[in-house]
Amino acid sequence: MNETILTWAREKILDGVLEEFKKLAAIPRPSKHEEQVSNFLKKFFEEHGFEVVQDNFKNIIAEIPASPGKENSPLTILQAHMDMVCVAAEGCEFNPTSDPIKLIRGEKFLEAQGTSLGADDGIGIAEILYLVKNRDAFSHGKLRVIFTTDEEEGMNGANNLDKKFFADAKYLVNCDSEKFGEIVAGSAGNVHATFWRELHYVRPDTKLPNNLEIKIGGLRGGHSGEEISSGRINAIKVAAQIMRQVTKYGKIRLSNLRGGKAFNVIPDSAEIIFATDIKSEVVQKICAELEQKFKNVYSATEPDIKIEAQIIKRPDKVLHLKDYDALTNIITLIHSGVYMMSPENPAQVLASANLGAVRMDDEIVELKILPRANSDELLEEFIEGFSQAARLCAFESKFSTSLPAWNFNPESKLLKFAKEIFAEQNSYAPEVKTIHAGLEPSIFSKKNPALDIISIGTTNENIHSPNERLHLDTVAPHVKFIAGLLEKISDTEV
Ligand SMILES: [Zn+2]
Repeated sequence: MNETILTWAREKILDGVLEEFKKLAAIPRPSKHEEQVSNFLKKFFEEHGFEVVQDNFKNIIAEIPASPGKENSPLTILQAHMDMVCVAAEGCEFNPTSDPIKLIRGEKFLEAQGTSLGADDGIGIAEILYLVKNRDAFSHGKLRVIFTTDEEEGMNGANNLDKKFFADAKYLVNCDSEKFGEIVAGSAGNVHATFWRELHYVRPDTKLPNNLEIKIGGLRGGHSGEEISSGRINAIKVAAQIMRQVTKYGKIRLSNLRGGKAFNVIPDSAEIIFATDIKSEVVQKICAELEQKFKNVYSATEPDIKIEAQIIKRPDKVLHLKDYDALTNIITLIHSGVYMMSPENPAQVLASANLGAVRMDDEIVELKILPRANSDELLEEFIEGFSQAARLCAFESKFSTSLPAWNFNPESKLLKFAKEIFAEQNSYAPEVKTIHAGLEPSIFSKKNPALDIISIGTTNENIHSPNERLHLDTVAPHVKFIAGLLEKISDTEV
């Protein structure tokens, strides 16, 4: 080969990749609506004469033969997800299931007009299509392309992929990371932990004449993996703290407590309704003092916290004291936040938990908690410790693994190759990291435990928002990085 993709001008590669991206942007592809884009991708491989499978979950699996003479080198999977998070800016008319994404190509960035861009993970798909089209311009072993569906809403495409597609592969390159220059080599798994308890109500005592509602708000919330170490306050924990504080001044009988939305979101608001013998002004003063205390401690991260108490009409029932104690005990006991940082890398969270939601109804109270860990062993530890804690506080508990961990493998050959190739092509060493959030490789690593995996990508900012933008100058270097890596692999034997 006298001219390889590695020597091509960056402009030429960028134009070629954006050509493919444009076609994707024209097809509406929010999660759970991938039929059209899946058909488009299937047709792409058929038209180029490759064997392609579209499974029942609309995943696409295509086989690309090795370059001549490279038939004995290991099989590598190139993988990306075809769905995207569709969000529009306020005032922008946008129907995600029927409207195309309108692209704006600037000098430095590619953006969308009023909506998310879908570079997560459309740029991964576009790059792989471009590499397949130009497969004769670099040497490679056998390649299998896997494009998954529904990554953004539960990784259902990846979960349902047949194991056989991973059995004969040695390497997998996932193109769904968001920063060029970083190589992701591990990700967190998580468990959905649900705690619940039957409730008993009584009529409020006439000796508790004051009825109040306390609202906690003004908090930042955010993703329970990525933001767990950024000093955000959990509104449900604040609620428990308020109740403990108020109890020092008199009696309270809880009528309702609710807060948070979901397992994986840090609760940004909560409400407490109760009857008490403490004067309303005293409760209001306690709230103001606590608000100030939080503002002092979290001045950099939560300056807008609000704790307000207002007088309401008498609730018709309040919790039996036993249930109230059990509930405040468990909320106090379960730590919500970082549990463990990496001993090797102090910026890296290895284990955390998020008390994501609490709900009370006529019969039960339910807590949703999401422990996360970057190794399966730590996840198991969580389940054991948490079920013990639930028992101690007289709660029932159940655990369901929603995602296993992708354990970091210090022996990874692929990581070694990738570091070498990256440093060779760029004038600096890449940063190798694990992330404290979920990635599809964790699922693939369980389908074939011997599979050697890395995750890489172009630089995409503000993903899942209308401000999503792609750094254009990272596209060609990223394509060359993948091609260089595949060339390197093709020089090795199975
Ligand atoms: Zn993604």
